[in-house]
Amino acid sequence: MVGERFDLIVIGGGSGGLAHAQRAAEYGAKAAVIESAPLGGTCVNVGCVPKKIMWYAAGHAHHAKLAEDFGFDIAVTRHDWAALKQRRDAYVKRLNGIYETNLDKRGVTLIRGYGQIVDRHTVRVGEQKHTADRLVIATGGKPIVPHIHGAEFGITSDGFFELGDRPKRVALIGSGYIAVEFAGMFSALGSDVTILVRKDGVLRNFDALMREELQQSFVRENIQLETGVVPHAIEKSDDGLRLHAEDGREFGAYDCIVWAVGRAPNTEDLNAEGALLELDGYGFIPVDDYQQTNVENIFALGDVTGKDALTPVAIAAGRRLADRLYGGMTDRRLEYHTIPSVVFSHPPIGSVGLTEDEARQQNGDEVTVYTSRFSPMMYALGEHKVPSAMKLITVGADERVVGCHVIGDGADEMMQGFAVAVRMGATKKDFDDTVAIHPTSAEELVTMR
Ligand SMILES: Cc1cc2nc3c(=O)[nH]c(=O)nc-3n(C[C@H](O)[C@H](O)[C@H](O)COP(=O)(O)OP(=O)(O)OC[C@H]3O[C@@H](n4cnc5c(N)ncnc54)[C@H](O)[C@@H]3O)c2cc1C
Repeated sequence: MVGERFDLIVIGGGSGGLAHAQRAAEYGAKAAVIESAPLGGTCVNVGCVPKKIMWYAAGHAHHAKLAEDFGFDIAVTRHDWAALKQRRDAYVKRLNGIYETNLDKRGVTLIRGYGQIVDRHTVRVGEQKHTADRLVIATGGKPIVPHIHGAEFGITSDGFFELGDRPKRVALIGSGYIAVEFAGMFSALGSDVTILVRKDGVLRNFDALMREELQQSFVRENIQLETGVVPHAIEKSDDGLRLHAEDGREFGAYDCIVWAVGRAPNTEDLNAEGALLELDGYGFIPVDDYQQTNVENIFALGDVTGKDALTPVAIAAGRRLADRLYGGMTDRRLEYHTIPSVVFSHPPIGSVGLTEDEARQQNGDEVTVYTSRFSPMMYALGEHKVPSAMKLITVGADERVVGCHVIGDGADEMMQGFAVAVRMGATKKDFDDTVAIHPTSAEELVTMR
C-alpha cells in the first residue's frame, strides 16, 4: 500500500531523530518520524532520565546518613523501591506525552511501527510504504547479552528499570559507566554489590586519577570489585545465580546479575541492504563529518553511528544536520571533540578533553599536570568523608588546558562551564585569573598550583 510522500523520513524517535525532525520541520520541511516504541528513545525510557532519578534516590540515602552530623535526628528504616519505580514510570510516561505534543506542534508526522528500508527513498511500516527525498537513520542501540550458557538468567540495563523490588545480592558485569552507576545506586539503596570486570578495573577510558579515586570509593562503600573475570556460564541454583568464569573461579550466589557489557546498534532488521547502505563489522552505520552515509540521500546520527553514545551528541548532530540541509548553513556539522561527559557514580565524575595518558602520548614533554585532592566541607563535621580529586592537564609553554577531570560531589554540575572554557582554548593563566567562588569545591580548579 502506498503511504505518504515526505521531504524527510527519520527512522527512530529517540534523542537524535526527534531533534533532527523537529529542527527540519521548523525550517519548513515536511518531516515524518517512525517509532516502534514509546517516544524519546533510550534516554527517556531506559537511559539518562530514569537513571538520573535512581541516582537522586541514592543521593538521598547518602545525605540521610550525613544528616546526623548536622544535628538532625533521622533514622531511615526502609526504602520503598516499588513506590519509587511507580513515580519514576509515571514521570517517564508524562515525558512520552510531551514529546508527542512537541512533534504535533511542529507539524511532524508520527508513524507508529517498525520501519524497514525498501530502497533509498522508501521505508515500509507494516503494509504501508512511505517515500521521502531523504532518509535519516537514528535507530540507536540495545544492550548486548553475551552468548554463554545461562546468559538469559541475567538482566540488562533495560531490565534494571523493570525491577519491581530491590534485589539483595547484585552482580554487575562490565566496566563501563552503566555498570559503575548501577552499582552505586544499588549499594546506596541497600544491596550487596559486586562488579566483575574482564581487565584490571572500571572506566578504562577515563583519566587514571578518576579511576583510582572511584575504586577507593568502592572500598569505602563496600562494593566488591573482581578483576580478570571472563564470564563462562551462569548457573541457577537453589540459593541464587552463580557466575562461572573461564579461569574456573565461581562468583555468587546473587539474586540479580546485570549484563553491562556494551551496546549494539539497531540495524539488524533494518534491511540496510535494500538501499545498499553500508554497515561496519559491528553493524554500526559509518558516516562522514556531515553525518552522510555511503548513500547520497541517506544520513545517520546518534548511537547507531558508533560515535560518542550520549544524548546531547545525538541531539547536536541531528540539529546541525537539519541546519545544514534545510537551514542554508552549508558547513554546519558537529565536531566530535572536547565532548564533556559525566559518570553518575557516587561521587560523580565530570570530564572533558584528554586524559593525562592521551595528552602525554600526543604531546610528550610539553604536558604539565596539576592535581588536587581534598575533603569537601560537606564532610567537615563527621567521620564519614568522601574525598574529591581534580586534575588539569595543560600543553605547551602557554599551558593551554586540554583536559579537566573532577571526581567528587558537584562534579556533575561543575563540568559544563569548564567545558566551555576548555573548548575555547583557555590557558592555565585564564583559570588562575578567574576569581574563585568561595566556599565551593569548584574553586579548586582556579586555584591549583
Ligand atoms: C542505562 C543508560 C544510561 C544512559 N545515561 C546517559 C546519560 O546520563 N547521559 C547521556 O548523555 N546519555 C546517556 N545514555 C546514552 C543515551 O541514552 C543515548 O546516547 C541516546 O539515547 C542516543 O540517542 P539516539 O537518538 O541515537 O538513539 P535512541 O535514543 O536509542 O533512539 C532510537 C529509537 O529508535 C527506535 N527504533 C529502532 N529501530 C527502529 C525501527 N526500525 N523502526 C522504528 N523505530 C526504531 C527505538 O525504539 C528508539 O526509540 C544512557 C544509555 C543507557 C542505556
